[in-house]
Amino acid sequence: MPTDTQFRPNSQTTDFGKRPAADVIIVGGGIAGLVAALRLSTSCQVLLLNKGGFGEGASSLWAQGGISAAIGDDDSPELHAADTIRAAAGTADPEIIGILTSRAPDCIASLQEWGVDFDTEDDGSPALGREAAHSRNRILHIGGDSTGRGLMETLCAAVRKQPTITIRDHCVAEELIVHHNRIVGLYCRNLKTADTPAEALFAPAVILATGGIGGLFEVTTNPSECTGEGLGMAARAGILLADLEFVQFHPTAMHVGITPAPLATEALRGEGATLINDRGERFMVKVHENAELAPRDIVARAVWREIHAGRQVFLDCRTAIGANFESRFPTVYQLCRNAGIDPARMPIPVAPAAHYHMGGIATDRNGRTSMQGLWACGEVASTGIHGANRLASNSLLEGVVFGAAAADDICRHLAKRYENADRSDRGSSILAPHPLPASRFRCYDAKISTLTLARLRQLMSANVGVVRQQESLMATLHELDGLIAQIGDKSAMAANMLLAARLITEAALQRCESRGGHFREDYPTPNPTMRHRSFMRLNDDIAKRSPQVIA
Ligand SMILES: Cc1cc2nc3c(=O)[nH]c(=O)nc-3n(C[C@H](O)[C@H](O)[C@H](O)COP(=O)(O)OP(=O)(O)OC[C@H]3O[C@@H](n4cnc5c(N)ncnc54)[C@H](O)[C@@H]3O)c2cc1C
Repeated sequence: MPTDTQFRPNSQTTDFGKRPAADVIIVGGGIAGLVAALRLSTSCQVLLLNKGGFGEGASSLWAQGGISAAIGDDDSPELHAADTIRAAAGTADPEIIGILTSRAPDCIASLQEWGVDFDTEDDGSPALGREAAHSRNRILHIGGDSTGRGLMETLCAAVRKQPTITIRDHCVAEELIVHHNRIVGLYCRNLKTADTPAEALFAPAVILATGGIGGLFEVTTNPSECTGEGLGMAARAGILLADLEFVQFHPTAMHVGITPAPLATEALRGEGATLINDRGERFMVKVHENAELAPRDIVARAVWREIHAGRQVFLDCRTAIGANFESRFPTVYQLCRNAGIDPARMPIPVAPAAHYHMGGIATDRNGRTSMQGLWACGEVASTGIHGANRLASNSLLEGVVFGAAAADDICRHLAKRYENADRSDRGSSILAPHPLPASRFRCYDAKISTLTLARLRQLMSANVGVVRQQESLMATLHELDGLIAQIGDKSAMAANMLLAARLITEAALQRCESRGGHFREDYPTPNPTMRHRSFMRLNDDIAKRSPQVIA
C-alpha cells in the first residue's frame, strides 16, 4: 500500500467527474467509523463525514456497560463464542462469532495503543465485570459506567492528530451513487446550509458506519442521530440486507418523559436491583428462573405486559446498591438526578425501549457488502454475530473488530487497484458516471417531514415493537407506503427513515415465529424450520419499493 497519496481531500468540488474526495469516505463517527479511520490513516487519505459535531450523536458515546473480551485467566475466546451463540437464539453464524471472539484480545490491545485507559484492579490488571448471559468476567469498562465516553474521547483525539484524516462535521450522507454496479461515491449535504444542493463526493471505497435505527421508534435509548438512514440508503442502492426483523428492546430505559430515554444499565440488575410493579410485586420471579437476569427479550416482554396491563414498572436499587449508587454508577446517578430521582432512595420508573439492531446491511468477514466499492461496519452492518439476540457488550467489540477488518480489506483492495496506475493517474481510476445522475432529493429535512416522522415513530413503537402481530404489521406497511408516497423526493432524511422502517416491518411480517428479539403474538414460539437468517433486497424496480425476500 503506498504511503503518500496523490489525493487531496475535498479537491473534487470543482472537478467532480474525476477527482476523488479521498481514498476512502467513511460515513459515521462512532466507534466503528473511528477505528476504521485510524486503521486506514497510515496508508490512505480518509474523509470522515458525521451528521453531528465530531464525537457527538453516536450511540458509542452513550455505552455504559462496557466492551467484552476473553482476557481473564479463566476465560477463552471459545467460551466467549459459546456464550454469544447461546444468547443469539439459533440464527447466529458461528464462524463469524469465532472471528469476533478470537480477535477481541488483540483489538483491546490496539485500543490501549491508541491511548484507551480501561479501569484496573489495585494490582494494575484490567478490572473485568460480568453481565447477564456471560459465563465469565470479561467486560472491560472505563470510569465505571462511562465506557462509551472514555472510548470516544480517546479515539476522537487520536483521529484529530492524523493529518491524513479530514473530518466534515454536520455533513449528512443522503444517497449512494451507483455506477456500473459499483458504489463510486455519495451525495451529502451540509446541515448548516441544508437548503443548498446536495454535493457529490467520489472515492474508490465508501464505508457506511451510520449506527442503529432506534430513532425510528418513539421510545428509544439511541441518540436522535441514529435513524436508520444508512440502511435506507443501502436499500435504495439495491444492496443486500439481513435479519432486519431482529431489534433488541432494552427492558429498563428510564420512563421519565425524556427523549431519548436514558438507560438504566443492565449492570444494576447484575448488582441485585429488582423489578417491581406499582403494587410492589417482583413480577420477574414468576416469569423466569433467573428472574431479573433472564435474557433481555424475556425481561422486556414481561415489563411490556405489566405496562400494557395498566401498571407502572420500577427498577428498585435501594437495597442492592443504595448509598453506593453515586460512586458505583455515576452516569446513571446523574441521569436519575436530572430527572428528579434519587435512585439510592427511590425506585426508578422504567419501560422497554428500542436499543439495538441485530439486522442491517449484510456483510462478510471483511465488512464487504453485496456491491463492490461499499463496506459497512458497526451497528448498521449485519455480520451474523448477534443472531436474533445480542449478548450485552458485544456490539462495541463488533465495531472495533469489523471496523478494523473493513479497513484492512480496503487497504488490500486499494493496493491492488493502484498497483499498475501511475500515481498521478489515481484520480481517474474512479469510475465516475458521465453525466452525473442528479441527486434524488430536494433537501435533507423539510419542515413537512416533522409530522410524518412523529407518525412513523408512533407506528413503529406501537406495531413493530416488543410484541408484534400480523394485522397491525400489515396496517403499518400500508400506512408507511402512504407516507413514502407523500414524502417522495422532498426530504432525504424522511425518505431514508421511512424506507428503513418499511423494510424492518416487512421482515417482521415475513418471520411467522418468535425468536430472540422478534416476538409475534400470533406465532408465539420458535419454528425449527425458520432457524436461519433472513435476507432481503429491494427489487430492481425501485419505484415499486417492493422488497424481495431471498431466504
Ligand atoms: C444508551 C446505550 C448504551 C449502550 N451500552 C452498550 C455497552 O455497554 N456495550 C456495548 O457493547 N454496546 C452498548 N450499546 C450499543 C453500542 O453503543 C452501539 O451498538 C455501538 O456504539 C454502535 O457503534 P457505531 O459506530 O456502529 O454507531 P454509532 O456510535 O451510533 O455512530 C454512528 C454515527 O453515524 C452518524 N450518522 C448516522 N447517519 C448518518 C448520515 N446519514 N450521514 C452522516 N453521519 C451519519 C451518527 O451521527 C453517529 O455519529 C449501547 C447503546 C446505547 C444507545
